[in-house]
Amino acid sequence: MLPIERIRLFLFDMDGTLYLGEQLYSFTRELLATIHAQGKTYMFMTNNSSKSVGDYIKKLARLGIEAEEGDFITSAQATAHYLLQNHPHEHFYVLGTCSLLNQLAEAGLDVTSEADDRITGIVAGYDTELTYRKLDDVSRMLSTKDLLYIATHPDTVCPTEYGFVPDCGAVCEMLYQATGKRPLVIGKPEPLMPQLAMLRAGVTADETVVVGDRIYTDIECGLRADAHTVLVFSGETTPADYEAAPRKPEVTMQDGGELLAMLRAL
Ligand SMILES: [Mg+2]
Repeated sequence: MLPIERIRLFLFDMDGTLYLGEQLYSFTRELLATIHAQGKTYMFMTNNSSKSVGDYIKKLARLGIEAEEGDFITSAQATAHYLLQNHPHEHFYVLGTCSLLNQLAEAGLDVTSEADDRITGIVAGYDTELTYRKLDDVSRMLSTKDLLYIATHPDTVCPTEYGFVPDCGAVCEMLYQATGKRPLVIGKPEPLMPQLAMLRAGVTADETVVVGDRIYTDIECGLRADAHTVLVFSGETTPADYEAAPRKPEVTMQDGGELLAMLRAL
């Protein structure tokens, strides 16, 4: 049972949980409005590090949802937070989009997209601007130096309208084949994003619920953060996947409409 009366922070995965591609689910607007009307907080949590928060605000606006910067927790933000806390003085090469580079720079990190001798760390993200030159640079740096090596998230593929394209995890796998090095991973299923969200909202894990459609990323990161977890069957996970999963969420729902009904019943 989800102790809904205790929950103060709702952390939502987006695609498959609140919308599917460009189609908003029928309950989403009401669900978000009800959370705010009850004085609770929600944030959108995404592993995608190719887009900035501004891009997501535009996407949600297209779907009819008003959002602002503070409503988002992204793997890029969590990566910036982790690096500032643990490795603030490194000089990072960013294997990622201009957007990722800018976000890390704005957070106060010393970052570059040019391979140089002063590099002491590598940050790999979902690089939709990837070139072979970058792969060559990173392979050389990882092979010849002992560098700090971080990946914003582990996803091997990113969904598109026709199927999938290679994501951060697939590129890191390619680099592993070449160099034998694997990165430290920040995004889901690691608990850093929910932990950062709790810190920002000033709530405890017991007052937080992670809601998502992927059992091995959304639910797993909620479990590792000791938060409450709700798996929705409105996206990727089928009931058969659920049965086969080694670690289960606290609660399963057909979709977020059931969460809205729970809130209305309070
Ligand atoms: Mg999803």
